[in-house]
Amino acid sequence: MAASGKMTLTTKVLIGMALGIAVGLFINLLGLNGEGTFINEYVVNGFFHIVGKMFVTGLKMLVVPLVFFSLITGVLGIGDIGALGKVGGKSFVLYMLTTAIAIAVGIGIAATIGIGEGVNMTSTASFTAKEAPALSSVLIDIIPSNVINAMALGKMLQIIFFSILVGISILMVGKKAEPVVELIEIGNEIMMKMVNIVMAVAPYAVFALLAKAISNLGLGLLVDLAGYVIVLISALMIHLFVTLMSILKLFSGMSPKIFLKKMRETQIFAFSTSSSNATIPVTLRAVTDRLGVNNSVASFTVPFGATINMDGTAIMQGVATVFIANAYGVHLGITGYLTVILMSVLASIGTAGVPGVGLIMLSMVFTQVGLPVEGIGLILGVDRLLDMIRTAVNVSGDAAVSVIVAKSEGKLDKNIFNDPNAGILTDDDLDIPDDVERDIARVVQESKNKA
Ligand code: ASP
Repeated sequence: MAASGKMTLTTKVLIGMALGIAVGLFINLLGLNGEGTFINEYVVNGFFHIVGKMFVTGLKMLVVPLVFFSLITGVLGIGDIGALGKVGGKSFVLYMLTTAIAIAVGIGIAATIGIGEGVNMTSTASFTAKEAPALSSVLIDIIPSNVINAMALGKMLQIIFFSILVGISILMVGKKAEPVVELIEIGNEIMMKMVNIVMAVAPYAVFALLAKAISNLGLGLLVDLAGYVIVLISALMIHLFVTLMSILKLFSGMSPKIFLKKMRETQIFAFSTSSSNATIPVTLRAVTDRLGVNNSVASFTVPFGATINMDGTAIMQGVATVFIANAYGVHLGITGYLTVILMSVLASIGTAGVPGVGLIMLSMVFTQVGLPVEGIGLILGVDRLLDMIRTAVNVSGDAAVSVIVAKSEGKLDKNIFNDPNAGILTDDDLDIPDDVERDIARVVQESKNKA
């Protein structure tokens, strides 16, 4: 509860999540979701689908302008270009390192337990491999040949590159560019307010998204693949609560308990949308307003992390590799597994955080190490739920690295981090005071009169 006694958004989102899961389970377990039934057509794939989809689209709508404005504001606010390079370098190293640790943990746990041994490797679903992009094309692709196109397609690395360049150029123009600085800063503020508006409907949308996802889940499949599912979820939890939190404590000295508490809402968004990219506005807000990371760091580390850092996905790749290798009786050996680690880290750089992309990355890795790609069909049926969980781990990794980098650059406000009420959203945040409405109307009228 907020100080005012009103329910906070986090509480409402938690309620939405619990109700969504409950309703989804109810529909699923009672088998009410059959093809052509009223529930299937009008409730699950009608009402739930529309509400959920509208919300996720609304979040996606915010991503490009938000990243653009906040990143330019970040570059302008960082003070010197050298510091920007350091933020970039540190976050890149930490992102790659945590991803490599994640996949090694996944492989280690799965191999120790020996999952997949004795599994019947016939799969009904088929999966077609996607070529891994060459490192050279990933690098070339960072530079947009057409900015409008990059923005239209939401190409995050290209948008990051262009925004940084705009920021640097504004600094170079100097005094003359001051009106633009003001415009961009106000633009950033407006976008952050828009995040609040979209987030206000989150409790209902989270309910709809989860009710739909859970009612459609093949729960029977979960039982069939219980070994894989349990090992994967355990590895994900170990990474989130042990590895990431130890790294956070070690490198920043900040409290993992507070971090986890303040990240809960963002994790639920990631869980419900299965997309780190769509969650960017929420992660950015949590990292700056709740955890105290200065925008000059967060505006870069959050969108960058959503694109190149996927710890949860990496763990899935590790566990799935062992599982499928064992199921098909393929012996990978140390070199094979090292190639898997390297390939997964590389594959994560150029792939955006969108639903289901982990499986596509896995197919790239399999092609490289010579594992049967059709083996992915074995785990396809349970991937929807696992995608939700690993996306929550992915965004937690982005936030943890943001805190560490900010701390090391003197850009972390410890008071905000430690204040339990910092950045909490309530309905009051959406109020537009009457006098403001009147003032704005007057300004518009005056400018009309002048014209
Ligand atoms: N859905 C994940 C994300 O957006 C990626 C994946 O593992 O499929 O981070």
